[in-house]
Amino acid sequence: MAALTESNPLVAMGGLPPFSAIGPAHIAPAVEHLLAEGRQSVDRLLGQDTPYTWESLVQPLQALDHRLNRAWSPVRHLHSVADSEDLREAYNRCLPQITAYATELGLDERLYKAYQAVADGNGFEALDTAQRKTVANALRDFHLEGVDLSAEKKQRFKAISERLSTLKSKFQQNLLDATHAWTKRVTDPDQLAGLPDSARSLALQAAEREGVEGWLFTLDLPSYMPVMNYADDRELRRQMYEAYVTRASDMGPLAGRWDNTPLMEEILRLRHEKAHLLGFENYAELSLAKKMARSTQEVVTFLRDLARHSRPVAERELAEVAALARELDEVDELQAWDVPYYSEKLRQRQYDLSQEDLRPYFPVPQVLEGLFQVISRLFEVTIRPREGVDIWHADVSFFELRGARDVLRGQFYLDLYARPHKRGGAWMDECIVRMHSRQESWEPVAYVVCNFTPPVGDHPSLLTHQEVNTLFHEFGHALHHLLTRVDSPGVAGINGVAWDAVELPSQLMENWCWEREALNLVARHVETGEGLPEQLFEKLRSTRNFQAGLQMLRQLEFALFDFRLHLEYEPERGARIGEFLDDVRREVAVVKPPAYNRFAHGFAHIFAGGYGAGYYSYKWAEVLSSDAFARFQESGVFDRETSRRFLHTVLGQGGARDAMELFVEFRGRAPQVEALLRSSGIAT
Ligand code: ZN
Repeated sequence: MAALTESNPLVAMGGLPPFSAIGPAHIAPAVEHLLAEGRQSVDRLLGQDTPYTWESLVQPLQALDHRLNRAWSPVRHLHSVADSEDLREAYNRCLPQITAYATELGLDERLYKAYQAVADGNGFEALDTAQRKTVANALRDFHLEGVDLSAEKKQRFKAISERLSTLKSKFQQNLLDATHAWTKRVTDPDQLAGLPDSARSLALQAAEREGVEGWLFTLDLPSYMPVMNYADDRELRRQMYEAYVTRASDMGPLAGRWDNTPLMEEILRLRHEKAHLLGFENYAELSLAKKMARSTQEVVTFLRDLARHSRPVAERELAEVAALARELDEVDELQAWDVPYYSEKLRQRQYDLSQEDLRPYFPVPQVLEGLFQVISRLFEVTIRPREGVDIWHADVSFFELRGARDVLRGQFYLDLYARPHKRGGAWMDECIVRMHSRQESWEPVAYVVCNFTPPVGDHPSLLTHQEVNTLFHEFGHALHHLLTRVDSPGVAGINGVAWDAVELPSQLMENWCWEREALNLVARHVETGEGLPEQLFEKLRSTRNFQAGLQMLRQLEFALFDFRLHLEYEPERGARIGEFLDDVRREVAVVKPPAYNRFAHGFAHIFAGGYGAGYYSYKWAEVLSSDAFARFQESGVFDRETSRRFLHTVLGQGGARDAMELFVEFRGRAPQVEALLRSSGIAT
């Protein structure tokens, strides 16, 4: 194994990953080697007879972590963008080993005590902000993992955690099975009226696959959504709606077959007990331990405030939909399955603008040039391509980001186009995290990945405005990662950032692609070279806030339901899921769903994902980004003073300081919901 290790590119790596040299066979030996080395080093660090300090304990631990991450990041990345059977096998084999290693360290009492000794030691106050925050976060995380509990409580804590992970995956499984168990077959082509061709051919393919005549609709979103938005047949919409909103519940066509009710009851009970063991009043409090919001009351007030302001607007929007339904089809009573359908009709009537109309104005080379200019003007950096870097596919390009006096600040890979063996969607991921210590220095490196339509021949790829928006969003994440000034990797860039604040830079950056001044840099017609005409620009702007009130209330209904469910849980009274849902709907919903609606039974974000008592984060981050952008609007969207301040607070200090503190330092005050209400057109 020694021979293999020395020539293993994942172990020997001294800079950027040598992608062309990394093969599936390197992965398992490298991971085994690095984990074994990690375990030995931890033991050695803990066994030393000098007192534990930043330099003797935390910095070497961070360096170990950094090394493991540098090796694992290209593997994780290749698994996402250039997958193969061998690679997937190696990845799936190693991932549990890495997770187990992290869990092991997170539950190591010796480590916990050593960190505690660093925090209590003489030198602690002399550490810089980022170093102190690194230690504080570590202690917090040990506590949240139950490391400091008594032996008996620890055992119970472990049992709860294991049971919860079983329940979560069972919930997801039920939902999946229920989603796939129901289909709707249509044999009369008249019933397809209104549906776009793409939806019809999807249904035709599904029928062919099942070997049945006609068209087959399923509850998967690509099949379900077009029916709700476009199908003229009201009864078809009603049936699909009923099946969809009763999945995995005691109601609907498959009532009771995959009923999630008992799982939800148990999840809520165990979460409450877990929170109690750790000294919190309830699970909502526990959820906030790693978030920017400071108290449960603050979250509830925040959501209710938004709802109160949005409700009258949503009511007006719903009345417009109802009026159109009456006008077109003499619908007297608008039902839940009518709302998306007539909303779509309304949207078409109000704005005859399709995403396709804008494509010629957004050829990729122009969009990139414009985006880089926007970033340069804002943050005083230059972005230049660098040739000769080892990449994983011919489509990939590589760029350097340099600041004042041409100093290298960071680098990034750009992989824009869809292709086989590449995961869908768009994302930013860390390749290398910034770390500066006495022993070594690393500047940050990012991957920015999208799935745009590839260019054909000499014709550049043309983007929709939605895709341009996505690109700006991901560059917001990338700038957060690349422009950090923090030297300790645990809190550099996006690391250690409260997760209800982590979307602030990304959502903020989106705003520029809706601004005339920035679009002048970004948009240029692929053939004529002319900028985006004023009339198209106005149309584009007006589509941005279509039905903002209804959309807002829908998200608030989910968020408030999730939060109150966890906050107001009482063991003697059980979960009271239906009760809370009814109550929240009375308070915030304007579209009244039928009594059989079991939305909660399919709410995987909170029952199977990581969003329990955290769904509010979506709206929270939107308020932050709207309010931050409002500061730019007040002084000009390219105002140097404002962008410099953002650079030196939120971007530059990442997770090293409290997210609220950084926001206040940037904005001069705490965030205000009015900014979001104004930017979404709800308040004027
Ligand atoms: Zn994002």
